[in-house]
Amino acid sequence: MAKKINTYIIRVKGLVQGVGFRPFVYRIATFLKLEGSVENRNDGVFIKINSDEEQLSAFIKSLKEQAPPASYIESVKSEITTLESFSGFQIIKSKNMSDSITDISPDIAVCEDCLYDMKHQFNRINYPFINCTNCGPRFTIIKNLPYDRGQTTMQDFTMCPDCHQEYTNIHDRRFHAQPIACNNCGPIYSLHHKKDTITNIAKITSVLAQLLDGGKIAAVKGMGGFFMACDALNEEAVKKLRYKKNRESKPFAVMFKNLESVKDYAYLNSQEIKSLTSFRRPIVLLETRQSLAASVAKGFNTLGVMLPYMPVHYLLFEKLQTPVIVLTSGNITDEPIVTDNKTAIEKLGKISDAVLTYNRDIYNRNDDSVVSIINGKERLFRRSRGYAPAPIIVDKNVEGILATGAELTNSFALGRENKVLLSQHIGDLKNFGTYEFYTETLRHYQHLFRFVPKIVASDKHPNYFSTRYAEETGIRHLKIQHHHAHIASCMAEHQVNEKVIGIALDGTGYGDDGHIWGSEFMICDFLNYDRITHFEYIPLPGGDKVTYEPWRTAISYLYKYYGKDFQDFDMPFLKTLNSQEVNLLCHAIDKKINTPLSCGAGRLFDAVSALINVCPVSKFHAEAPMRLEAIIDKSVKDSYPFGTSDLINFKTLFDAIIQDILSHVAQSTMASKFHNTIVRIIITQAKKISKISGIKKIVLSGGSFQNKYILTETEIGLRQEGFTVYSHERIPTNDAGIALGQLMIAAHKADLM
Ligand code: ZN
Ligand code: ZN
Ligand code: FE
Repeated sequence: MAKKINTYIIRVKGLVQGVGFRPFVYRIATFLKLEGSVENRNDGVFIKINSDEEQLSAFIKSLKEQAPPASYIESVKSEITTLESFSGFQIIKSKNMSDSITDISPDIAVCEDCLYDMKHQFNRINYPFINCTNCGPRFTIIKNLPYDRGQTTMQDFTMCPDCHQEYTNIHDRRFHAQPIACNNCGPIYSLHHKKDTITNIAKITSVLAQLLDGGKIAAVKGMGGFFMACDALNEEAVKKLRYKKNRESKPFAVMFKNLESVKDYAYLNSQEIKSLTSFRRPIVLLETRQSLAASVAKGFNTLGVMLPYMPVHYLLFEKLQTPVIVLTSGNITDEPIVTDNKTAIEKLGKISDAVLTYNRDIYNRNDDSVVSIINGKERLFRRSRGYAPAPIIVDKNVEGILATGAELTNSFALGRENKVLLSQHIGDLKNFGTYEFYTETLRHYQHLFRFVPKIVASDKHPNYFSTRYAEETGIRHLKIQHHHAHIASCMAEHQVNEKVIGIALDGTGYGDDGHIWGSEFMICDFLNYDRITHFEYIPLPGGDKVTYEPWRTAISYLYKYYGKDFQDFDMPFLKTLNSQEVNLLCHAIDKKINTPLSCGAGRLFDAVSALINVCPVSKFHAEAPMRLEAIIDKSVKDSYPFGTSDLINFKTLFDAIIQDILSHVAQSTMASKFHNTIVRIIITQAKKISKISGIKKIVLSGGSFQNKYILTETEIGLRQEGFTVYSHERIPTNDAGIALGQLMIAAHKADLM
């Protein structure tokens, strides 16, 4: 007996557009001899088939099991509809049907097949914009959904007959590859050098390679913005780039020709190789084996490394002598990276010898992502290219909530259904250009994801630009405490929804008592937090100045514990200071002139870094703690004493460090003992709080957990004590992860309102 044939509608949600999903559906449908159709809609992929129940389940099984590599399926739902008749199986034109949204693919590094085609395919020999359904630009060129060429910055380029044939051939790897292009029809590069503009790609790569090998500097347009390049083995060139970019000592990221050449300069484990070669191609922080030009890493023992991800990178390395180039954000100090050709030629042209542009616009700015492998897991420090804007799935409806984030390393978040769209790294909102980037990206996200805000969540800090932005929206506004948001962010990432012990260590966050917080040991869930203990408060003479002058915080601790007597201590650190200035500082503390109180862990790291004379003055954010971490001697297992009567206090710690300084103990030993002390503080406090509360789940967050040594040892130590430990992986532990926490807390609070 013939089985009953129905017309079924099948809706697939997840990352299913821009990753070769429709041709894949076509292939399995034709393989199963099913008639029907498939189309992209803004909320996912919409399929109709005529089949019996058995064929339907075979079809859905194949959908789930054989989906393309860069895709992921979140849900597949089927239902019976009115019977239709089809002729064969068709891919039909995209429709914009509902207010729901589908996921947007992050940008994908050029694939091996395309690299092969770049050497063999007649219309794509050395074509630097080669791509297919498995690779190429995505988020950076998308203006609107559904993802179709006409809604991307490829709209200006008309496909040639050859490309069109591939685009419409279901059996081709470029079937419906929206950015498809070739030497005859696609975007081209232009090298602006002196008065010349060169457009022949072979000539461009030759001239560019010659310039870079000759110690010159070039600005190069990447996937999500411009980057500055020079030979990373040429000290003069790197120094010149530092001078021109006005960037004195923050390490530069580098791009190596291939994995083999990385191995000469850095140590690699299998997890690091996996991250380096993944289609996301982040900058991976690696331990240095052999140093590049001294000015690249500026005394740090880690190196930010990436591998080529655009076809042009491969073409350039074919011509270059050097196996490694500096590739750092194309901006002036704190500005966002430049994305448009005109600004690049005008601004970056002034500080470089050549500017490489191409004639396709970047719609969504996206800097390079940065990861570090800690305890065997990839941890995102900067979440941008290759990662954004993939959603974070949460176990809650968060529809209509906008979280405006923090300030220094801002990113914002929007809630749609059970998804949080966390923006790419935006940067420091105090910079005007960055603030413009912030509001522009907010507009882009609201449009792309069909988002209408109903509730806005922000930090409690009254002066953050993100708080003011939230106020100006005029909608219901919830202010969320900074460190509660940190912990909630990590809870959301791991879908933990119960009372936990939250430990948030960072530099700065606005506290409920009006002081600066940053060493918070709390019991919390998404709704409430109970601050159990924290570091003792210390006055910060000069306020914000302390972040760049850690010596001020060191003096504040010394003055607190020893009065003016500390000036008689025979310490190298004190000899670097002007005694009059030191006296003035003490006076300001006495009179409480611009001396806000802080318990931020970052400040303690600063103070110790200055005190042992590693970094009394810093040139970039968090340099002092980073330099302190960089000199750790892992063989040192000792630690310093600390006090826990009332709050966590450090008089005994300072006594012991000063004793070590006076006895000429090595800086590396002191740095190690200090780090071990922090780990011990975390573990002893966790045990104490667990004892009174019975809670065994610990959630770690805050910028201080970017410290590889601290996070590694803390996780190991806490697990040995029987705790379940959650720390950040896909969401930054620094303030760029705050928006997710703000959003989740607001969602839970909204339920009660
Ligand atoms: Zn490809
Ligand atoms: Zn073409
Ligand atoms: Fe923070």
